[in-house]
Amino acid sequence: MKDGNEIQGNLIGGEWLPDGDCRPNVNPSDTRDIIGFFACADRTAVDQAVHAARSAFPAWAAAGPQVRHDLLDAVGTELLARKEEIGRLLAREEGKTLPEAMGETIRAGQVFKFFAGEALRVAGDAQQSVRPGIDVAVTREPVGVIALITPWNFPIAIPAWKIAPALAYGNCVVLKPAELTPGCAHVIAQLLHKHGCPAGVFNLVMGPGSVLGDALVSHPGIDAVSFTGSAATGSRIAATCGTLRRKVQLEMGGKNPMVVMDDADLQNAVQACLNGAFFSTGQRCTASSRLIVQKGIHDAFVERLGREMRALRVGDALQPDTQIGPVVDQRQLDSNLAYVELARSEAAEVLGGERLELDKPGFYQAPALFLNTTNDARINREEIFGPCASVIRVEDFDEALAIANDTEFGLSAGICTGSLKHASEFRRRVEAGMVMVNLPTAGVDYHVPFGGRKGSSFGPREQGRYAAEFYTVVKTAYQLA
Ligand code: NAP
Repeated sequence: MKDGNEIQGNLIGGEWLPDGDCRPNVNPSDTRDIIGFFACADRTAVDQAVHAARSAFPAWAAAGPQVRHDLLDAVGTELLARKEEIGRLLAREEGKTLPEAMGETIRAGQVFKFFAGEALRVAGDAQQSVRPGIDVAVTREPVGVIALITPWNFPIAIPAWKIAPALAYGNCVVLKPAELTPGCAHVIAQLLHKHGCPAGVFNLVMGPGSVLGDALVSHPGIDAVSFTGSAATGSRIAATCGTLRRKVQLEMGGKNPMVVMDDADLQNAVQACLNGAFFSTGQRCTASSRLIVQKGIHDAFVERLGREMRALRVGDALQPDTQIGPVVDQRQLDSNLAYVELARSEAAEVLGGERLELDKPGFYQAPALFLNTTNDARINREEIFGPCASVIRVEDFDEALAIANDTEFGLSAGICTGSLKHASEFRRRVEAGMVMVNLPTAGVDYHVPFGGRKGSSFGPREQGRYAAEFYTVVKTAYQLA
């Protein structure tokens, strides 16, 4: 117990294990509201979790598709049924608005149900050998024990889109969610436990990445690591996995361009940018952070976007009229505010971006638009990860495309245009994993691949049937007929 509250424990080998140490989970909309106390694992707990997963692996790998389907389907069904209650928890711990949080919970449920189906569809190839009298079979097998490390900004969807395929293809899992948002990961752990997930198949270890991350990634019992988070942490994990020759999948940051051409539908372009840049408080890896606008539409676009941005209602994530929730914590807020100052020092004209003091003590910030910026400014090179977007004025399509591609990242890219030629050429030539035409850069489906290029991603894609590339290994068998 902590201050009269039960400590929410780690799940290791089928047992809930509250450690002595625990952390409060604080509501960023109202820092007086403590959502709960969550156990903090140590290196010993990580070791126990990996051993539990290793012990469970042979039986789970052999369990067959029906058992895996039924478990994932039951979890998906319950996530969908409890979307409002779990969405409230999500909004309370992460700060996105209730509709956004319920949408994310629904997405997590859909992902579990999709991979319940995929568990029944693990396919291989039967081929003729080039040598007469020999059969060749290519089959997929589970990888083993997989470490999953997830960020705070999609605290239920990202764990879901890693856990569900990992289990569907017969792997065992140790999940380390972000320390800021353990509540949603804990709900998934509860549901897996409740619906009969065998002991050790899924393990949850909560606590700081600086303590647990390396212990998990470099543990000899881990076969593969799937990570979503910042480029800096991703690089460290890649280095460790490279040395240990461990399969790794990294989804990292973005500096996503949204091109607005003179021939765009102005209202649609403004809405796409408003959504892409500021919704979910701009805390999306696919957020539109560089708005690359052709000179003819520039002034009208900036005037309208600025006006609509200033009208967005910032407030408590659970209030029905809130459109933009708080920033996730003080550290991220300080970082965002420092970028607003940096924008000024880099000669941008700044609209909004100020710290807001509302009726509750929360991490509130007005959305910010940086005008008259150049692509070489630091505000246009570094991921801010807050409700901030820059406008870069360009002459024509070629300049827009060149600037869109002039970044170390390559996650999502968008164009608003009425021209089929520009849309098609942009889709072909932009260096990004996902391309949006007349749509916000954020907002994706769950049954198709998700991921980027360049510094945004490393390794096989996530989601859809492409997830099998990471969560399975291929075996080629030859047999004398
Ligand atoms: P982060 O600081 O890199 O943290 C991500 C996860 O890594 C957290 O669970 C963190 O634990 C853990 N971690 C920290 N240090 C570690 C270490 N040395 N070894 C192993 N794990 C460690 O990122 P974040 O601030 O949570 O998330 C924001 C970033 O995620 C942004 O860059 C965003 O673009 C990116 N993101 C990318 C995608 C995508 O699909 N491309 C999706 C969402 C977010 P603690 O938090 O407990 O310290």
